[in-house]
Amino acid sequence: MSNVPQHAPELRVAAQHLGRRRFLTVTGAAAALAFATNLPTAGTAAAAELDARKITNDPFTLGVASGDPLPESVLLWTRLAPTPYETGSGLPAERVEVRWELALDERFKRVVRRGTTTAHPEFNHSVHVEVDHLAPGRVYYYRFRTGSWVSETGRTRTAPAAGRHVPDLTLAAVSCQAYHDGYFTAYKHLAQDDVDVVFHLGDYLYEYAVTSVGGARKYTDRVLPDVFNRETVTLDDYRLRYALYKSDPDLRAAHAAHPFVVTWDDHETENNYADDTSENDDPPAEFLLRRASAYRAYWENQPLRRPQLPHGPDAQLYRRLGWGRLAQFDILDTRQYRTNQANGDGWKSPTPESEAASQTLPGFTQERWLTDGWRRSHALWNVVPQQVTFARRNNPAAGDTTLSMDSWDGYPASRERLLKGADAARVENLMVLTGDVHVSYAMDIKRDVDDPGSRTVGTEIVTTSITSGKDGSAKPSNWAGYLARNPHMKHYNGQRGYVTVNLGEREARADFKTVSAVTVPGAALTTAASFVTAVGDQGLRPA
Ligand code: FE
Ligand code: CA
Repeated sequence: MSNVPQHAPELRVAAQHLGRRRFLTVTGAAAALAFATNLPTAGTAAAAELDARKITNDPFTLGVASGDPLPESVLLWTRLAPTPYETGSGLPAERVEVRWELALDERFKRVVRRGTTTAHPEFNHSVHVEVDHLAPGRVYYYRFRTGSWVSETGRTRTAPAAGRHVPDLTLAAVSCQAYHDGYFTAYKHLAQDDVDVVFHLGDYLYEYAVTSVGGARKYTDRVLPDVFNRETVTLDDYRLRYALYKSDPDLRAAHAAHPFVVTWDDHETENNYADDTSENDDPPAEFLLRRASAYRAYWENQPLRRPQLPHGPDAQLYRRLGWGRLAQFDILDTRQYRTNQANGDGWKSPTPESEAASQTLPGFTQERWLTDGWRRSHALWNVVPQQVTFARRNNPAAGDTTLSMDSWDGYPASRERLLKGADAARVENLMVLTGDVHVSYAMDIKRDVDDPGSRTVGTEIVTTSITSGKDGSAKPSNWAGYLARNPHMKHYNGQRGYVTVNLGEREARADFKTVSAVTVPGAALTTAASFVTAVGDQGLRPA
């Protein structure tokens, strides 16, 4: 067991990996961030300890979470916030001692591990506990205490041992949860669903302003403070925005019920940014300061392990997890290292600029990491949870040759390098999990999308949004156009919800689950469509 973090943080910059221009901008951003947050520097006195008995309001308003299950380890998360919608969350800038327990049963009769950790003010009193030396493939229950306060109980699990035979696994994929677009009803249902692990594929929060009635939620029983009614830019802005999201009861229920494996897309920082290029081409030094704030708040508020802790504007978010011999998960970060969108972004016809070999979505280092990982994989299923649409999406309007420059269609050379790498590694059962587009798709990944007779090398399961885009409809106006112009697209639905995927030894099954509305609470869940793809014979068929 190790507590994260053990020590007050220092912002460090890996200068040896950076060019001079970038070094200067990153140093500027890191220095400004340190100034903005009053982080202690070497030699300053450590924060005092707060007597937890003096916390007079429930500090567990943001719930509990767990994440990144390993065979013998789980990561447990909470954040103390007696008044979550205020800067500082109603706690003085002092450390708070937090106790935690992990048990085999919900009633904590069989506690297998307990310990104490520290919530640091420098990390907004978030708590990240790595509990190690656990039994593989097992369900555990956990909770936190401080003073007289006890958190709700979370349920989590360890992954099966590496190399172990596992009959099946059910995962859920979710993305795009604009608070101001509606209620997180899909999460209420997901909390009750029988899944082993949830993958969050990005847009956990949106930087846009949230009105006092919660946008499309149209609250009549509460008034949200003005701090949310502006775009997030500073560290305090992002921290407060996580507090708004994390206080949602449906999101809390989903986190308490299942371990999450999270990765970000653009809106956790800013719409459609690419590396150090912001949406509106702000000076890179300025944007990297914003990125550092966004990345820092993300880590503080997610069940992430210590290797994912950002250093200034840089964070190692892409990582690999395994599930016995059944599955390898290569979780990508396609924002932090990408080259800028070609042709000025948006939907544009391909040009030499978009088709250039120098265009890369994950960055060349992450591309190699992924294809090397496939070469070494012994897993039956090679699953790639990531952000933007991987397979071609031809424009639904007849005769229109434009493609989305923000997705893999804007980086075709990068996609081709990965497909070549999958060929070389003889990856048999490739499945890409995608978010971002606020609709669900099921697509065959063709070796050559322009040749319908070419080999199907994998499948792409695109999950719709939790709320983004408001209610949506089962068949949007471009529904027939998309399906007609994309023979490899087997499913398209424009409602909100999530997808579950059962990975088995003979086939995988995807169930696309939708809610009828999100602008009113309490909608029912239905399974809109189900598909299977066979082991050794990729290609989607209706279940
Ligand atoms: Fe989104
Ligand atoms: Ca997005």
